Parts: sequence; C-alpha cells; structure tokens
Amino acid sequence: MSYSPLPHLRRALVALLLTALALAAAGCGREGSPPVKGPKSSELPTYPVARNFTLPASPTWERARRRGHLIVGVKEDQPYLGEKDPASGRYTGFDIEIAKMMSAALGFPPATLHFTTISSANRETALQNGQIDYYVGTYTINGKRKKLVGFAGPYYLAGQSLLVRSHEKDIHGPGDLAGKRVSSAAGSTPAQRIQAQYPRTQLVTYDTYSACVDNLLTYQVDAVTTDDAILLGYAAKVPDELKVVGKPFSREPYGIGVPRADNALRLALDDALAADEKNGSWKKAYDVTLGLSGVPAPQPPPIDRYPAS
Ligand code: GLU
Repeated sequence: MSYSPLPHLRRALVALLLTALALAAAGCGREGSPPVKGPKSSELPTYPVARNFTLPASPTWERARRRGHLIVGVKEDQPYLGEKDPASGRYTGFDIEIAKMMSAALGFPPATLHFTTISSANRETALQNGQIDYYVGTYTINGKRKKLVGFAGPYYLAGQSLLVRSHEKDIHGPGDLAGKRVSSAAGSTPAQRIQAQYPRTQLVTYDTYSACVDNLLTYQVDAVTTDDAILLGYAAKVPDELKVVGKPFSREPYGIGVPRADNALRLALDDALAADEKNGSWKKAYDVTLGLSGVPAPQPPPIDRYPAS
C-alpha cells in the first residue's frame, strides 16, 4: 500500500469537526458560556415516594393533588443551597434536596416538583396568596414571621456572618462596621439586625445576595452580611477574592415556610423531616450539597412541633 497523506488529513478534519459539533451541542466552548452548576443527577440521593399517602386536613395538599404536582418557592443564586443552572433551568442545593424529600413524603415524585424563585422580601406574600405550596430557601424561623406564615423544622442552624474581599484588613466582626458600606438582601433578618443593632453602618439592600456579592467584588460596598451557610458558598466559588471573617453573631434556624393556617401540612412536614434525619437522607443530601462549601455535616437542630394558634 502506498502512503498517501490525504486520508489522514481528511480523518483529522472530520474528527475536528465532530469535536466542534459535540462541544456546540453540549453548549461548551462558546465564549462566556458558564460551566454547568450543581452536582450531577447521579451524585444525588433519591427519596422513596410515599404510597397511598393522603392529607385531607391540608387544603394546600388537596389543591396540589388536584393540580397533580407541588409548587415550591426557593432561591436560585445561593451556591450549594439553592442554585439554578441558567442553561438547563435545573435547581440544585441542600434546600432543593429538602424540598424533594418533603415532596416524596407527601406522595409526589420529586421529579414532578415545580420550583419557582422567590426573593427574601417576597416569601410571606407568596405563601399568603397561594402562589407556592411551601418554601425552602434559607428561611429563618422567628416570632415576627410566625404571625404571617407557619414553619416546619428547623432543619438546619445557620448564623449571621460577614463576607469581605480577601485583602480586607479592617473588618473582623460586626463591631468594625461603623461608617462602612454593608449590603444584604431586602427583607432578611441580617439586614434587620444591622439596622437595629449597628446603626452606624451604611446598610445597602439588594433583592438578592448575588447582587450583594457583585457589588462587593466591584468595590461598591465593603462587606456582605447574611448567614454563614450562604457566604461560605460564595467564598468557596472564588476563594482568591473573597473570605468569610469573624464568628457567627446570631442564630438563624432554617424552617420550611407553609401557609399559616395549614397546621396539617406543617406537622406532616415535621414528621417527614424527623424521618429523613433518622434514615440518613438528610446527611446524604447535606454531604453532596452544602458539605461542599467545607463544613462537615452537623447534627440537625431539634424539630419544634409548636401548637396551632
Ligand atoms: N436566614 C435569613 C433570613 O431568612 C437570611 C437569608 C435569606 O435572606 O434568605 O432572612
């Protein structure tokens, strides 16, 4: 056989073309296209769906049954907690796993869940006007909010902290914030605490924490304050540019928000959380999501089954 360079060249060109097509189909390699966010589906636990489950005392559950699926309010820009991949629309994170566990326990396959992004300031209204069935998104349980909505849980205990640029030398705790520009999300407990307890701070609120972090990176503000769980996720994404400083200075027990009058749903979710903490699902979910920001799985806080009022 005589040697001819042509078939080799043609094969190389075809291979190049195929690679380019595969990359284009996968959405990679295009300038500015972000990497896919969140763990792969194969890395996530699955939750057995309760069979023949009914909850006739819950108007929220009955409405979801007639509709055929649950609608859950979440966050979409909080790494390892609630994050939406812009290309696929898929949501991942610890809060998303909690939402899926609860769906399975209520008899709805998690794959049928409809997620909708609701910001910190709009959670109570979304639950009050029936836009969502329940809410899982770094939602602190407190007395003021309990007048407006119900809470199952808590399923996690966070604490308010501070995120600064990695070269920052002056800010180590909330006592160093006088005269500093500090941002947080509108309607959040950390924003309220800064206003009430550190009035010499120049508080700047945005709708989302990703907007707060963008403004920190571009020197519009000096720090971002919210729960350590949220801030550690942002810091883990760009460790060269951001760091979390000081010790947590509040207790933020995360609950699942439900319509206030729906005690049957609230107590069913408390039961489901207790079961998932016992059977290992809670820890498995934590390890593949929030655990990636560097903190090993803690003991979940005790569930507070408070009486109806
Ligand atoms: N956990 C706090 C809150 O519920 C801060 C996080 C958030 O805004 O979601 O207000």
